[in-house]
Amino acid sequence: MTTPGTPVIGVLALQGDVREHLIALASADAVARPVRRPEELAEVDGLVIPGGESTTMSKLAVLFGMMEPLRERIAAGLPVYGTCAGLIMLADKILDPRSGQETLGGIDMIVRRNAFGRQNESFEAAVEVAGVTDGPVDGVFIRAPWVESVGAEVEVLAEHEGHIVAVRQGHALATSFHPELTGDHRVHGLFVDMVRSAR
Ligand code: GLN
Repeated sequence: MTTPGTPVIGVLALQGDVREHLIALASADAVARPVRRPEELAEVDGLVIPGGESTTMSKLAVLFGMMEPLRERIAAGLPVYGTCAGLIMLADKILDPRSGQETLGGIDMIVRRNAFGRQNESFEAAVEVAGVTDGPVDGVFIRAPWVESVGAEVEVLAEHEGHIVAVRQGHALATSFHPELTGDHRVHGLFVDMVRSAR
């Protein structure tokens, strides 16, 4: 049962690890549902953009007619949280886009795709995230991007080995890593709080 006032949070379900985010959001006291169409987007109080493959996600967003509706709602203040490929989607600029790759934007940052990936396809590391209490989170990095630089409005929430891996700009949150894969839902809790205070 949902209590009145429980925020409804969508997970962009074009491609990527949608199911894991739905579970994490439900554990963090939100009503979670997949979003594929503009009508579904119109009904949510917040949106998660999952990990996956940002090039494919970008192409599917165009194909499904979601690119403009997403950009408009994000620009109008919809709380959004992007993990990994989702972080790339929220970047105003990508350093090394594949041809035809577009982003939604929303965070004034420049992102390097697969930045951690060359030596190390995938790893885990303890990451202290500003705004998340009770110790570091277990950061799961899978062909992860890092944030090369940020604008003045962007708050850096976490770094790993000197590279920015979590940021917030107003209503937009992004992490290079995947809290949805760990069973620790504190970062989703932080996002649910952002959605609650935006309502
Ligand atoms: N490297 C992927 C991309 O460029 C992101 C990987 C991920 O989401 N785990 O989209």
